[in-house]
Amino acid sequence: MQLPYLKQFPDEKGYFGKFGGSFVPEPIMKAMEEIDVAYNLIAQNSDFIAELRKIRKHFQGRPTPIYFAHNLTKQYGGAGIYLKREDLNHTGAHKLNHCMGEGLLAKFMGKKKLIAETGAGQHGVALATAAAYFGLECEIHMGEVDIAKEYPNVLRMKILGAKIVSVSSGAKTLKEAVDSAFEAYLQDTERSMYAIGSVVGPHPFPKMVRDFQAIIGIESREQFLEMTGELPDFVVACVGGGSNAMGIFSGFIDDPVELVGVEPLGRGTKLGDHAASLTYGTKGVMHGFDSIMLKDENGDPAAVYSVASGLDYPSVGPEHAYLYSIQRTKVATVSDTEAIDAFYELSRKEGIIPAIESSHALAHALKIAPDLKGKKILVNLSGRGDKDIDFVVEKYGYKEN
Ligand SMILES: *Cc1c(COP(=O)(O)O)cnc(C)c1O
Repeated sequence: MQLPYLKQFPDEKGYFGKFGGSFVPEPIMKAMEEIDVAYNLIAQNSDFIAELRKIRKHFQGRPTPIYFAHNLTKQYGGAGIYLKREDLNHTGAHKLNHCMGEGLLAKFMGKKKLIAETGAGQHGVALATAAAYFGLECEIHMGEVDIAKEYPNVLRMKILGAKIVSVSSGAKTLKEAVDSAFEAYLQDTERSMYAIGSVVGPHPFPKMVRDFQAIIGIESREQFLEMTGELPDFVVACVGGGSNAMGIFSGFIDDPVELVGVEPLGRGTKLGDHAASLTYGTKGVMHGFDSIMLKDENGDPAAVYSVASGLDYPSVGPEHAYLYSIQRTKVATVSDTEAIDAFYELSRKEGIIPAIESSHALAHALKIAPDLKGKKILVNLSGRGDKDIDFVVEKYGYKEN
C-alpha cells in the first residue's frame, strides 16, 4: 500500500526529492539535530498533542471558520469562492499555528529564549505571543525598512515583551533579518531556540512548521466536506516562504484537488521587481536549505520586492520546490496592483479587510473564477489587513467603489 504523502516526505535527512536538507555550520547542525530528535519524540507524545490541542482551542480560537464569499461569488459569476479564515486565528494570521508548537517544543527542551526574524512583523508578533504564553524570553530581528512599514507590529511585539533588533544591512528587509537572527542564534544555541517563520531553513524546520500548519488543511477538508458535501476543485494560497500554503495544501495533497501557490509579481517581471521564486528562480542553496531561488549575477540571493512584506523572500520552502517540480502544484503570479484591487474588493464586498499577502491569493481566485462556473475555489485567507491599512491608504488612496 502506498503511504500517505505526509508520511513519506521529507525523508529522515529532510529531503523532498532533490530539495531540502541541511546546509549549516557545524554548531548549528548539532543544534538542528537536537531539535529534530526532540521534535520526533514529542510529535508521538500524547501529552504534547493534547496540550497543543488545548492551546489551539482555548487560546488561539480554533477551528477558524470557512466562509462562503457570497457577494464576490455572485459578482464574478463563475466558481464559488470560499475563504479559510486564518485572519481570525489569534494575532490575526496563520503564523501562531507553528509559533505555539515551536514554543511548546522550546519549553520541552528546557530552552529559555526564542530567537527569530520577521518580515511583515506577523511572525514576530506570533512568536512574542507564544513567548509570553510560555514564559520565555524573545528576541526578534527585523529589517529597518520593514520596521518603518509595519510599525504597529513593532509596537505589538514590544508590548508583548519582546526585544527588537533592527537590521540595517543590504536591502534592510527579510533576507538580512534571517542572516542577523541566525548569527545571534549561533552565539547562544545552548539557552535559546531558533524559531523559523515559515517552511524554510535547514531540516527539521520545513517539516516541523508544515506539520504544525497542517491543522489548516485538516480543518479545511473536514469543514468543506461538511459545508458542501464535496471537496474544492481548487485550493489557492499565497507563497512567501510557503507555510500557509503548505498548511492548507497538506489537507488535500492525496486528493484530486488542484493546488495553486500564488507568488508576488511586485512591479513586474524584471529581476529585483518581484519575489516570484518558483516562477523565475533556479536551484540553489540559501539560508541552510536547497530549493529554487532567485539569484543575482554572482549567484547570490537576489534583491527582491513585493508590496507585501511577508512575501518578499528570494527563495521558497523546499517542499514547494519539490511539489512544483513533480507538477503536483501549480504556480501563478499576482502583481502589487492586482493584490491591492483584491484587498479593496474583499473589504468593500464582504466586510473583511485582508492582509496584502492574502490579497495575492484572493486576486488569483478572482481572476480564474469567472471561467469556472460550477467549480469551487477555496482560498486560504492567511491573515487580516489591520497591519496594512496605513500603508495602503497612504500609497494607493481609497479605491473608488
Ligand atoms: C507571513 C505571512 C505570509 C507569508 O508567509 P508564508 O510562510 O508564505 O505563509 C502570508 N500571509 C500572511 C498574513 C503573513 O503574515
